[in-house]
Amino acid sequence: MRPIIGLTTFTESKGASRYNCLNSNYINAIVEAGGIPVIIPLVKDEESLLKYINIIDGLLFTGGEDISPLCYGENPIKEIGAIEHERDAYEMFLFKEAYDVNMPIMGICRGAQLINVALGGSLYQDIYSQIENSFGHSPKGGPIDQAHHMIRIENDSKLYNIFENETIAVNSFHHQSIKDLGKGLKATAHSYDGIIEAIESMDRNFILGLQWHPEAMVPKHEIFTKLFDEFVKQCSKFA
Ligand code: MN
Repeated sequence: MRPIIGLTTFTESKGASRYNCLNSNYINAIVEAGGIPVIIPLVKDEESLLKYINIIDGLLFTGGEDISPLCYGENPIKEIGAIEHERDAYEMFLFKEAYDVNMPIMGICRGAQLINVALGGSLYQDIYSQIENSFGHSPKGGPIDQAHHMIRIENDSKLYNIFENETIAVNSFHHQSIKDLGKGLKATAHSYDGIIEAIESMDRNFILGLQWHPEAMVPKHEIFTKLFDEFVKQCSKFA
């Protein structure tokens, strides 16, 4: 059965109008893997969000702006980026509901950080000012499907089973990263400067967070389709 997969969104102003948005790459990657994407609007009403949880078989937390440091008990440092409190609250709510029913969850970039924070973990608000000798994780310009740095994948992990490789080259568009891990999570990939580049749940069927952007790599780099194939497979099993 083809699973229905919920995708989270953000809002953005253009001129006098405010739009509820999502990068099409996420939609395309899910469609290519055989899933049926459902775009979840950024609404406050919890009854509506619960209805979406009942409809979907899997949940994908997408990339975006910084999560408010207040969500992990910190005040912001001056390097913090744009924050959207409504998005933080809506995604935290969706995560907790999906987590409670053991629904397959994948988080990309901000989405991985969201999973970690929702489970009580914390973030480096800005790796350049908070981690000594970190290398560049946000190249200036260039195509989004260009590999930027290598990551090392732990042998004993879902990620290793998916890629069957200890090292892969990934793209990178983040200035924050996971610091303290949330409850039940383990780090399953790191960049060579020690940044956590993937997390997985040890006590749920399938919760996977990735600090890079596989949905942007998919069209040109076939290896990344394996990730979405596995996610969609897990969601079919849950359906
Ligand atoms: Mn990176």
